[in-house]
Amino acid sequence: MELQDFRPVCAAVLKKTQVEKPAFPVIDFHTHMGKMLLGDDYAEKYDTAEYVRELTKSGVALAVDMDGYGGEDLRALRQKTAGFEKRFIHFMQLDYSGYDTPGFAEDIRRQIKAAHRRGCKGIKMWKDLALYKKDKNGDPLRMDDPRFDAVYDTAAELGIPILMHIADPKAFFMPADETNERWEELHEMPEWDFSDHSKYMSFEELMEMQENVIRNHPKTVFIVAHVGSCAEDLGWVEEQLKKYPNMNVDIAARVAELGRAPYSARRFFRNCQDQIVFGTDSTPLSMGYHKIYYRFLETEDEYFPYHPDDELPGQGRWEIYGIGLNTEILRKVYYKNACRILGIDPDQFEEEAHGTLSEC
Ligand SMILES: [Zn+2]
Repeated sequence: MELQDFRPVCAAVLKKTQVEKPAFPVIDFHTHMGKMLLGDDYAEKYDTAEYVRELTKSGVALAVDMDGYGGEDLRALRQKTAGFEKRFIHFMQLDYSGYDTPGFAEDIRRQIKAAHRRGCKGIKMWKDLALYKKDKNGDPLRMDDPRFDAVYDTAAELGIPILMHIADPKAFFMPADETNERWEELHEMPEWDFSDHSKYMSFEELMEMQENVIRNHPKTVFIVAHVGSCAEDLGWVEEQLKKYPNMNVDIAARVAELGRAPYSARRFFRNCQDQIVFGTDSTPLSMGYHKIYYRFLETEDEYFPYHPDDELPGQGRWEIYGIGLNTEILRKVYYKNACRILGIDPDQFEEEAHGTLSEC
């Protein structure tokens, strides 16, 4: 047998809790409905009414979509979600192509204000800036460059938050050799290998850049995606959250890292309960994950898969453990913290908590 065919089945007799619905209505703070993950023809790939039914079934009252580009793209997305406005919030993505030109700050301000007028409630910044894009000198577009102040300052002025995805899992910045815990994933997706530091900023440099941005803009509210870019080191993320009250994190696509370190994760949720929001990074085509997050957050089940049963563990060969959070922390993580960040009245969700989620 080849190692790649090894599929061990756990022999331990363990409690299995089916969590069909979360304890409270959920705001999924990190979803993708548009072209970013689904491609330019995303509109043909799913039916919005069907997606809303799936969200309802999963207990998601509101999905925050990261794919609200400006201009024509935003118009098309609005059309795609027409009739379901109460179930979605869109964050805008900006066009940074004028980075090297003198009118850049003005152009950014104009883009943000235009998308905000058209209903976008936040800004999404992606890892492509510092990892892929270069300025005219061939240097990475560092997000702590003062030229980006226009983004942070305009967001603060308008009172809208910025969701930043800065780095990727630590293993993507390490050599893809036999010691790499995500070797199988990197083998499948070689373009996620950022270990060549002559081409890419190192993980440590990216974390330094991230901290500079948050420290230099205390009036801007940030949600740093994927557990503050560093789900592998919750102690460091906790320190950052304590230092910077304008920083928040989502837990999107990191249930594997959190769930393999249940004692540290539970401590992290207790100590940082006001700065963590629920998120999955899901699309209308990948709705199988919510129940796994709920099981992780709400139960003390042990050693269970972080992926749907019919899939192989995509992010590394390990299983996870539930952390059984109390109702007060669950409330905050599921919707209260998100309401505060988005400026939404949490009462509507509190009412739903005692009733049932209704169809849109
Ligand atoms: Zn995402």
